[in-house]
Amino acid sequence: MSFEDIPVPIGPVYEGERIRAKQMYVELGGPKMEKHFELCRVISKKEIKDGQVTIHGPDLKDMEEGSTHPIGILVEVAGPELEVDLEAVFERRIHEFCNFVNGIMHLNQRYTNWLRISKTAVEKGFNSFQLLGTVLIRLYKAELPIIEQAQVTFYTNEKEIERTYEMAMGVYDKRDERARTIHDDDVDMFYGCVLCQSFAPTHACCITPDRTSLCGSINWFDARAAAKVDPKGPLFEIPPGECLNKLAGEYTGINEMIKKRSLGEIDRIYLFSGMEFPHTSCGCFEAIDFYIPEVNGHGIVDRNYGDVAINGLPFTAMANQTGGGKQMPGFNGISIQYIVSPKYQQYDGGIETIVWMNKGVKDRVGEFLPKDLLPKIATEEEVTDINALKQWLQDVNHPIVETWAEALAEEEEEEEEWEAEGAMVPMGTVGMTIPGVGGAGGFKIILKNCKIHAEAIIIKKIEPKRKKK
Ligand code: SF4
Ligand code: ZN
Repeated sequence: MSFEDIPVPIGPVYEGERIRAKQMYVELGGPKMEKHFELCRVISKKEIKDGQVTIHGPDLKDMEEGSTHPIGILVEVAGPELEVDLEAVFERRIHEFCNFVNGIMHLNQRYTNWLRISKTAVEKGFNSFQLLGTVLIRLYKAELPIIEQAQVTFYTNEKEIERTYEMAMGVYDKRDERARTIHDDDVDMFYGCVLCQSFAPTHACCITPDRTSLCGSINWFDARAAAKVDPKGPLFEIPPGECLNKLAGEYTGINEMIKKRSLGEIDRIYLFSGMEFPHTSCGCFEAIDFYIPEVNGHGIVDRNYGDVAINGLPFTAMANQTGGGKQMPGFNGISIQYIVSPKYQQYDGGIETIVWMNKGVKDRVGEFLPKDLLPKIATEEEVTDINALKQWLQDVNHPIVETWAEALAEEEEEEEEWEAEGAMVPMGTVGMTIPGVGGAGGFKIILKNCKIHAEAIIIKKIEPKRKKK
């Protein structure tokens, strides 16, 4: 495969390239745009003009420097061995292949896709979607030989994108609907994905029927189809092995897989917990499940939400804490589909621990959540700070309120333990907790009217304790 006719270099070495606002020529999709998408479809050979690139709307060279535009990328592929189940996994490769281009940064997937093209690339002559389409077609056929023909269509203005966007949303909904029809107990094989290791080298996704991948674009059916056609590829089988803890979703097979794939960094995962041995997060999670220690509950914020969440942090700040392939108790990257899974963070107390969601997420998952719980989950429209949230939860009698008395009793018990061990715990002190640091409850600093003179300070680790319903 040759890219000699392409004016910028192409290859995996350019994955991970960041293009900052100052360096970009244009921005496509992303949080400032309402409708944008990327989609892959398997179609018949006779519907395809192999190698064809079509552009509906302005081309790159017609776009003003510094501007932002909608983007729709439709990749259509054909081949005798292709099946519809492979579409989602092929679609996920758009991210990887765009990032192979020196001068393109591609983030996210489906309807949250976000690209930046650098000024340097445009100066070198990479000034048309024809070139990007050609690169994509060549990479698809070279990297996935079962694809025999491919064509790519770009949509770059609101009018052109409209109809295809609705079609794409319909396809995503259908995939998600199907994913909701099976559960972990119905299958004897799980799957893994390491497509994101170029960005997060210790991250590997575990994909089971009850836990779709955190990017939201690969469900169990998709992963199964991909592992079948390319067993040595980035998606692979994970024989579950022995179930060590059903509630937590801990399996010997998954632990072995993550140990191997994270090069020994991580050796244990609870599929259904954001608090203990949580699943790692790369960077393309659709949403974040975050612990709110002040109410012993959890919030969910998705990447389309531009304001600060109930804990005072914007998505971007929490994303920095969450991502990078670490295990970060209290901040867990998740897909929107996983929220409606019957096993959603069940080790931490499940869906009933959710006390806040931004409205965009609530609107999307509401119809699948328990009817009595739904009105008790606050959004930015009801409350905007923790004190108001506390009051709201009491007013609506959210199930989390029942755990507060237990939490208080346990805290008092802990304080007595410290006193018994000789620590000084003054009366009437104020505790300060910092979300996410060290997991449940964060860490606690207790100071009151004090002058400190010390020859030594001992900092003692307190193991996080979770309340279970
Ligand atoms: Fe694969 Fe997970 Fe990355 Fe999605 S988030 S592409 S499933 S590694
Ligand atoms: Zn990722």
